[in-house]
Amino acid sequence: MVIQALLAASLALTSMPAQAAQSAAVDCARVKCLALTFDDGPGKYTPALLKTLAKAGAKATFFLMGKRVEERPEVARQIAARGHAIGNHTYSHASLPAHSDNDVLDELKVTQDVIGEVTGRRPVMFRPPYGQTDERVLGLAGQTELAQILWTDTTLDWSLRDTKKIKATVLKQAKRDGVILMHDVVPQTVEVMPEILKELKKRGYHLVTVPTLLRGNGPAPGQSYF
Ligand SMILES: [Zn+2]
Repeated sequence: MVIQALLAASLALTSMPAQAAQSAAVDCARVKCLALTFDDGPGKYTPALLKTLAKAGAKATFFLMGKRVEERPEVARQIAARGHAIGNHTYSHASLPAHSDNDVLDELKVTQDVIGEVTGRRPVMFRPPYGQTDERVLGLAGQTELAQILWTDTTLDWSLRDTKKIKATVLKQAKRDGVILMHDVVPQTVEVMPEILKELKKRGYHLVTVPTLLRGNGPAPGQSYF
């Protein structure tokens, strides 16, 4: 009963054309775009980050772990309902090249199912944990209807753990059509995000999802981007 009501509510929310609205409104061929991406959630700081992003009118891309979506399904639903893009970051944060074909497919497919059930939308993108990937993993992702999304810059926020350093790093890395990797499970990243967004907007950036940044040229299954 409860699950059915939640699913109905999530379907109602995700049927809002938020993503389409942004794609229509922001043309990254004409304006300066940047994609902020957050891995390893949903976590306990993600709701605060969603509020910050909403206040700034910013969209982002979240690469979620299946295991953590099971722990916080309501947060995953909020991410989708607010028009952010969601990608697959495996079920258990496995380093995929070390695993058999079956295990890689399991990591990806179970996460597709979990995210699909919870948000009403199956991801079309995945990001390999630790950035560890190879041609075999990419092929298996293609079989799972997933595009591989890497990044142009990684902040190493999980190692910096310092608001000033994280802010300085993101602002130094920001460039037109960039894809910046951060983690919404790092509290300092979430804490300093209002300041980062304020400065990025001052510099004229439109903060968009990865699909918006690709402007129709993907994401396509089995292809790797960035
Ligand atoms: Zn990760």
